Amino acid sequence: MKYVVVTGGVMSGLGKGITAASIGRILINRGYHVTSVKIDPYLNIDAGLMNPAQHGEVFVLKDGGEADLDLGNYERFLDIELSSDHNLTTGKIYSSVISKERHGDYLGATVQIIPHITDEIKDRIKHAAESWVDKHGNHAEICIVEVGGTVGDIESMPFLEAVRQMHWEYGNGDFALVHVTLLPADNMGDLKTKPTQHSIKALRELGLEADIIVGRSSLSISEATKRKISAFCDVDAHAVISARTAPDIYLVPLELEKEGMAEVLLNLLHLEPRKPDNSWYSIVSREYKHRVIVAIITKYGVEDVYISIKEALKHAGRSIETEVVIKWLDAETYTKEDLADVDGILIPGGFGNRGIEGMISAIEYARENKKPLLGLCLGFQLCVIEFMRHVVGYKDATSEELGAGTHAIALLPEQEGVKDLGGTMRLGNYAVTLDPKSCLAGLYGSTEIVERHRHRYEVNPAYIDEIESKGLKFVGRNGRRMEALELGNHPYFVATQFHPEFRSRPSRPSAPFIGFVKACRDNQRK
Ligand code: GLN
Repeated sequence: MKYVVVTGGVMSGLGKGITAASIGRILINRGYHVTSVKIDPYLNIDAGLMNPAQHGEVFVLKDGGEADLDLGNYERFLDIELSSDHNLTTGKIYSSVISKERHGDYLGATVQIIPHITDEIKDRIKHAAESWVDKHGNHAEICIVEVGGTVGDIESMPFLEAVRQMHWEYGNGDFALVHVTLLPADNMGDLKTKPTQHSIKALRELGLEADIIVGRSSLSISEATKRKISAFCDVDAHAVISARTAPDIYLVPLELEKEGMAEVLLNLLHLEPRKPDNSWYSIVSREYKHRVIVAIITKYGVEDVYISIKEALKHAGRSIETEVVIKWLDAETYTKEDLADVDGILIPGGFGNRGIEGMISAIEYARENKKPLLGLCLGFQLCVIEFMRHVVGYKDATSEELGAGTHAIALLPEQEGVKDLGGTMRLGNYAVTLDPKSCLAGLYGSTEIVERHRHRYEVNPAYIDEIESKGLKFVGRNGRRMEALELGNHPYFVATQFHPEFRSRPSRPSAPFIGFVKACRDNQRK
């Protein structure tokens, strides 16, 4: 196993995750099997209970792990599936060490950050890397380890110390450190290297040396600036890689390729390039011939909360040469006019009361005006509520989650009495059986599918027959659980209790999204 550790300097939000995922993609294109581990130095066990407005989307893994959104980037860029073991947090490390201590596993030792916490970190990184297999049974040869946060933060210290020890244990050839920093431009357009010098200094104080420096900037880094960074930071000038902001995240691997990232990295890891496969690049740079506008009715004005949906629309659009332009509409303030010029409406997942009525009105508008609609999770539940209120005739229809009224959506029976909120929803992969006559079965090309879930409520079985008798069909089921709905006599009115966005990849777009974007395009032509 070889490790590529990615650290960040200067400030957060530099695109370290995209850089790390791009490095993985480059290595895959050179014929290597790659997995990844993301380290989040916060005390939460996982991202499940964190406010998405602060941390972005909670990405759901196949085993039900609720993870940082970067895990989504890894799954999309590397076209792999990861599990909870691939997202380490301070919370997971400490709770495991403390429970081992209570169990008496440390045999009387004084339990300390070094070696007990650092050993736990190293063991977990190695376990995640070594136990991973892809769908063809291949084991990983290279593991990308992204250390969240910025070098110098108190939170990440034990992780960086563990990484330092790993470098010593593995040695050159099996370990490379990529440091991602910012090169701000001054008024004259010159890129300044001082912040990079300082962050390399902070790394050195921890006993770590960068092998590659990726400089994030608005402009390309000149050869002269690369030589300056090289001289100050003990990195070869050709290992200073320029990473300008790209127009699309999937073009970042191509940018890094042009800068020679593959050669530098393979050389550091003592690896020969295998037969290169650049098919992924042609998929992500396919030209558009059409353009549609999709409104996403949101509760948070932060795009990162909906990153997987945004990417799934892009994947589906590219596959049918259609650029999807997103019109972000605030569920509490948008007006009917805002919906008039869009080609389709998407209602995403969510929790709690805020913005609910706006989302329901948008569903009503899509149903009555025959605008293509895709509802996801909460969006699915609200389609049921809208139909119950305006077609079936229960004016007070709502969800048990939202308050009093006729509960068209009710608590899942197994959730009765659940007190701990962390990791207790219906989470991860579950099978769904589709009606063979449904539009979704046609799009998936199968009636047996598996998708990811994250919910506590479901369609109340008491109203299913009544709803179906009025024309809304539950075309996807898992036993007694309603998983997908479709409305007839409408160009595309589809909603799913599951989250198809989490399994969408540039090379394998998600079926409900393809159907939606296609309907938006076709509807526009009429
Ligand atoms: N709040 C809803 C539930 O818990 C929907 C969840 C979601 O959209 N992810 O069932």
